[in-house]
Amino acid sequence: MQKYFDFRSDTVTHPTSAMRAAMATAEVGDDVYREDPTVTMLEEKAAAMLGKEAGLLVSSGTMGNLVAVLAVCGRGDEVIMGTAGHTFLHEAGGVSALGGVVIHTILNQEDGTLALEDIQRAMRNPEDYHEPISRMVIVENTQNACGGKALNADYMRSVGVTTAELGLHFHIDGARIFNASVALKVPAATLVEPAESITFCLSKGLCAPIGSVLCGDKQFIGRARRIRKMLGGGMRQAGIIAAAGIVALDSMIGRLEEDHIRAHRLAEGLAQVPGIQLTKGSPNTNMVFFELDPALGMDNSLLINEMKARGVLINDTNDGEIRLVTHHDIDDLAVERCLEALLEIVNKH
Ligand SMILES: *Cc1c(COP(=O)(O)O)cnc(C)c1O
Repeated sequence: MQKYFDFRSDTVTHPTSAMRAAMATAEVGDDVYREDPTVTMLEEKAAAMLGKEAGLLVSSGTMGNLVAVLAVCGRGDEVIMGTAGHTFLHEAGGVSALGGVVIHTILNQEDGTLALEDIQRAMRNPEDYHEPISRMVIVENTQNACGGKALNADYMRSVGVTTAELGLHFHIDGARIFNASVALKVPAATLVEPAESITFCLSKGLCAPIGSVLCGDKQFIGRARRIRKMLGGGMRQAGIIAAAGIVALDSMIGRLEEDHIRAHRLAEGLAQVPGIQLTKGSPNTNMVFFELDPALGMDNSLLINEMKARGVLINDTNDGEIRLVTHHDIDDLAVERCLEALLEIVNKH
């Protein structure tokens, strides 16, 4: 198999050898009986790192967000989120299909935030029986589709004040919350302190093969545990997965800064390539977005194919932009190769 430099996503990372060793020797039990000590250790560690009472291991970020919504909303209830929100765009409509929950979207601002006035305006009148009942707000941090932007602690606090005033549950889709934490140099616990719940992914830049953790208070996680079971997400000797997650939390967060530095290098290089326009304020955290000048007469699929022929994998987005993501398996050489290949393709074209 040819080895590619894979910039499509930080989900393509492979478990490290330390993770494989931890998985091989993990102490396990039946987690549906709450007898897997490694799962319990991961859940407690994750909750402590995020300043929450309890955690729940789930199979994916999608399941974490779905479980959170179903733990809060009943059929016909409403969850407010951004038009650029992953839960709106890329989770197959699960909250509506499986929970009968109405999605109320508001526009993300350019900086990735949801405007507080928009959240206030989206709030339904609970006295009016024509309207669905507003229950919840989801804010994404980092905000992927807005460029991988990190939302700062002041903003997160202001959302917490607003949702508390409105009586709404504040959930953070923090798939990449540790990227935000590293970029802002603020503990993840500070960023998520104002929220009732948070999901984060072990399986992206942190390199674990499987898993996300949903965190919140004990009562909320109790409800979430029942819903996870309902969705078929009660796993047995899941310590095999959790062992890799523990290594991820212990040793993979600090190095995310390297990914951010390489994203900067990529963006600097891209800015020198004629016909390439950086977008979405790139670089942000571990992501770089750009578009091709139409004057180049080259479409995204041609570029993607030409890059692949040169050993570099890239993707485009729903918005017609190219997204490059740096991660553990992207080193300095990969960044150089990517820039060389791009320059060569654009010059040849
Ligand atoms: C990847 C991602 C998810 C979903 O995670 P999966 O593990 O792929 O299901 C949710 N939210 C955001 C912002 C993501 O980037």
